[in-house]
Amino acid sequence: MVLKQLTLFDDFFASEPQKPSTVAMVASVVFGQMPKGEFDYLVPKHLQAVLEPGQRVRVPLGKSNRLQIGYCVSVTHKPCVTSELKAIHSIVDEQRLLSPAMLQVTRWIAEHYLCDWGQVLETVLPKCVRENVGLRKVFKYRLAHPKDGLQHAGRLTAKQQRVLEILASADGPLTAEDLVAKAGCSSAVLGNLVKRGLIEREISHVRDKTISYDRPPRAESLTLNSEQRAALQTIVDAIRSGTHKTILIHGVTGSGKTEVYIQAIEEVVRRGCQAIVLVPEISLTPQTVERFRSRFHNVAVLHSHLTDAERAAQWEWIASGAVEVVVGARSAVFSPTPRLGLIILDEEHESSFKQESAPRYHAREVAEQRARIEGIPLVLGSATPSLESWYRAQQGEAILVQLPRRIANLPLPDVKTIDLREPKRARETRGVITRQLHAAIEEVLKDGGQVILLLNRRGFATHVQCPSCGVVLRCPHCDISLTHHKIANRVVCHYCDYEVETPRTCPQCDSPRIRFSGTGTERLEAEIKARFPHATCLRMDADSMRSRLAYERAFAEFRRGRIQILVGTQIIAKGLDFPNVRLVGVVNADTALHFPDFRASERTFQLVTQVAGRTGRGPHGGQVLVQTFTPEHPAIQAAIRHDYETFAQQELKVREAFGYPPFWRLARIVVSSNSSETAEACSREFAASVHTQAEVAGLTDKIRIVGPAPAPLAKLRGKYRYHLQVMARDYPQLLSVISTAQKTCRAPSGVTWTIDVDPIDML
Ligand code: ADP
Ligand code: ZN
Ligand code: ZN
Repeated sequence: MVLKQLTLFDDFFASEPQKPSTVAMVASVVFGQMPKGEFDYLVPKHLQAVLEPGQRVRVPLGKSNRLQIGYCVSVTHKPCVTSELKAIHSIVDEQRLLSPAMLQVTRWIAEHYLCDWGQVLETVLPKCVRENVGLRKVFKYRLAHPKDGLQHAGRLTAKQQRVLEILASADGPLTAEDLVAKAGCSSAVLGNLVKRGLIEREISHVRDKTISYDRPPRAESLTLNSEQRAALQTIVDAIRSGTHKTILIHGVTGSGKTEVYIQAIEEVVRRGCQAIVLVPEISLTPQTVERFRSRFHNVAVLHSHLTDAERAAQWEWIASGAVEVVVGARSAVFSPTPRLGLIILDEEHESSFKQESAPRYHAREVAEQRARIEGIPLVLGSATPSLESWYRAQQGEAILVQLPRRIANLPLPDVKTIDLREPKRARETRGVITRQLHAAIEEVLKDGGQVILLLNRRGFATHVQCPSCGVVLRCPHCDISLTHHKIANRVVCHYCDYEVETPRTCPQCDSPRIRFSGTGTERLEAEIKARFPHATCLRMDADSMRSRLAYERAFAEFRRGRIQILVGTQIIAKGLDFPNVRLVGVVNADTALHFPDFRASERTFQLVTQVAGRTGRGPHGGQVLVQTFTPEHPAIQAAIRHDYETFAQQELKVREAFGYPPFWRLARIVVSSNSSETAEACSREFAASVHTQAEVAGLTDKIRIVGPAPAPLAKLRGKYRYHLQVMARDYPQLLSVISTAQKTCRAPSGVTWTIDVDPIDML
């Protein structure tokens, strides 16, 4: 058991007030894992001049005083009973790992997402950085008395003399190898000189691998059009103002947002500062990176495929201040840039900016806090802004900039729906490609154009059923029907990755007539190959693109025109620019529409708009055909008219009426257990506790609780799941009620609950 050390507050009310209190230097320390909370330690004299918040320290912990590493988060002078505080043992890091601003940011994350500060710190600082991965210890030698020259050296051998001369004329300390080679002596000579006190040995850390990349040819700035110029001016004004502002760029696909970002960063670089550019992991392609590398000298890249040594090297390079721009996915928002001047978050509506494990932070919200704390602008960009960001702009909390036209006045593609309900259709078509879509593909292929077909379901058949006894193949762990993958001949659970060989006969009644229904990308690919046997077709989804390299190679092939039809899941919908794509087909626009998620309409609108943006970027224009059972749905109607504003206006009304974000803030609590009854009972207990806390705080009419109810994924990885949603208009009220409820409820063993503030995943 670890006793929390006394803080000033405890001391004040303590039972022994007679103990003399003196003003001392006290450091507050947070641990990565256990124990939770902040702990005070005395800063001993010899560390007072060197200790800084943001460094790690070794401190004694518990009765046994075993040493543990913790993070020093603040240093203050305050009155305390020094005999009751333990002292810091030593400092771990030569340099601080976190700036004061980043300490504030991490604290905000802990408070906002209801998790431990220590856990946040361990997330922000990659393990490889904490553990010095890729650093090698080397010994270097220097003169012990450089001012004395060589006068007091006494009697020396020629070789010893030579070593001293070399060191005297060197710029700095030299490694043993260096010195031995230059002096033509053995390393014993160095040892001898150390013993005589004439030279000193020091330890330093060097990196085995230094950063290098092939620099692409330098590209010149493009001359901006008038809308781009206005957008740039708004950002530059914000940069010059030296204060925080959030700017939302709503720019249609191909409107030249990236060029605006680059020119804004040029201003930041001229001022001697750095910029962070956050993009979804999937958009972090060589083309994206190259675009920045052709315009800036030093561009660091942070993505999830780096090795530990590479990540640590990038991190150190960024911290050195030499990097002008960091381009990276979600966690790059924590980059240790010493003089941050601007944060840009492109495709800000993307759900991958939310981390789905604790701490469940959203990079957009963290970027906003960091920008606020550092007093710098934040630029959010999207063709389909999240309703949260759009609403903030409407409320005057963000500056809205519009880029409504494509570059060179290219028209936006013509979008039409194909109604899947038409009764004639059933007789005319086999498979999922309608007659109209087939004809359009044929036409484009004849003209030498390329086609993209989107279907947001992978695998071959999404439903495997026995017609004799009616049994549906389900995951034994998840209560989800299994998807048949024909190429691998396996049935797979898309939630937990459970898989077995596809049975030839019904596991229940042994009937050999198993039916495979529902279409995934594999079956779509087969259908396309059957319909267009002479066209080259490639499927892109998580199954065919297991490595980043495969994915990049596929895009390169498509770009070169070696592939005529690209079939894939949403991974093909993202910000890529292929001038020869003249047709985009959305095979089923309704897949996202019927999810039990209040963002279903928004997702559908985003997906159709984003994939439509892949076409019409060349001189031949482009068209988009959207197959749907609900062509009248407002999200689909707005998407075919490229009318974001009407969509946003309608959808915000719905959100307000139902009390959803952005009007109400939302936290979701998922309780999971091996037993369904236990999960249900615990979720009820939690809900009751939230209710009580709201009552105590006089907030019953301000807090809404929905549920508990079985989660849409009622069983996942063998655990039964219940969830509840807690909502409030006022954020601090929401957080305080939940955090108190959390403290008063105790999860019995075997039960876990996760609290997700501002959830994206509603399953
Ligand atoms: P977005 O990020 O909005 O999708 P991009 O910045 O990628 O748009 O621009 C789309 C295309 O237009 C790119 O090929 C880019 O090089 C080009 N482009 C952007 N701005 C200009 C400009 N001012 N003049 C000419 N071409 C431009
Ligand atoms: Zn059967
Ligand atoms: Zn499963």
